[in-house]
Amino acid sequence: MYLIKTPRVIQKLFPNFHWKVRQRTEQPTIYLTFDDGPIPHLTPWVLEQLEQFNAKATFFCVGNNVRRYPEVLQQTLDAGHVVGNHTTHHLDGWKTDNVPYFHDVRHCAVQLKTTLFRPPYGRLKPSQAQFLQRHYQIVMWDVLSGDFDPELTADDCYDNVVNNAGPGSIVVLHDSLKAEEKVRDILPRILRHYTDLGYTFASLTPELLTSGASLASTRLKTA
Ligand SMILES: [Zn+2]
Repeated sequence: MYLIKTPRVIQKLFPNFHWKVRQRTEQPTIYLTFDDGPIPHLTPWVLEQLEQFNAKATFFCVGNNVRRYPEVLQQTLDAGHVVGNHTTHHLDGWKTDNVPYFHDVRHCAVQLKTTLFRPPYGRLKPSQAQFLQRHYQIVMWDVLSGDFDPELTADDCYDNVVNNAGPGSIVVLHDSLKAEEKVRDILPRILRHYTDLGYTFASLTPELLTSGASLASTRLKTA
């Protein structure tokens, strides 16, 4: 079971995680994120689509894929996107002991030279969250497309995004084989939809998240 739109109550339970970005300008911005790449079969296609809309995004990469396809990672960086850590082996925090989990996270962080981290499946034990948030900016999401779910059609996934994502939303998509068919269908439509509404698409940067722009850190400061 998973929720397409992360309820405020869950966001409040984990105030140190980044769920959404506070909008400070007139022009609304959406933060598209792509998990589980980079892979030569799909990531370059994603980059082309983004390019056509002058859109920047954030790619949460699996260290093992980075090792296998360094040229696809480089292509992503050269196009001006931001990359984040999604562990080396796509580990499930709930099923992994802390020490091996932290090593796996650290290995990917060193590989990518980033402090942005998104736990696979969004799963962290409280003890893992407590430790990792001291070293990384933990990026969750406001809206899941559901593109990884074999039960959903591409239209379902498109609706999940456009019915739920608004200014400052962090949206999850996947540049993975499992999601390929749906992503190829919905990404151009999502880019068109929000462009027509006057949105820009931006990357999540460590600076943006530490500047107090994210709702998470803003709430902490005012608490
Ligand atoms: Zn993942």
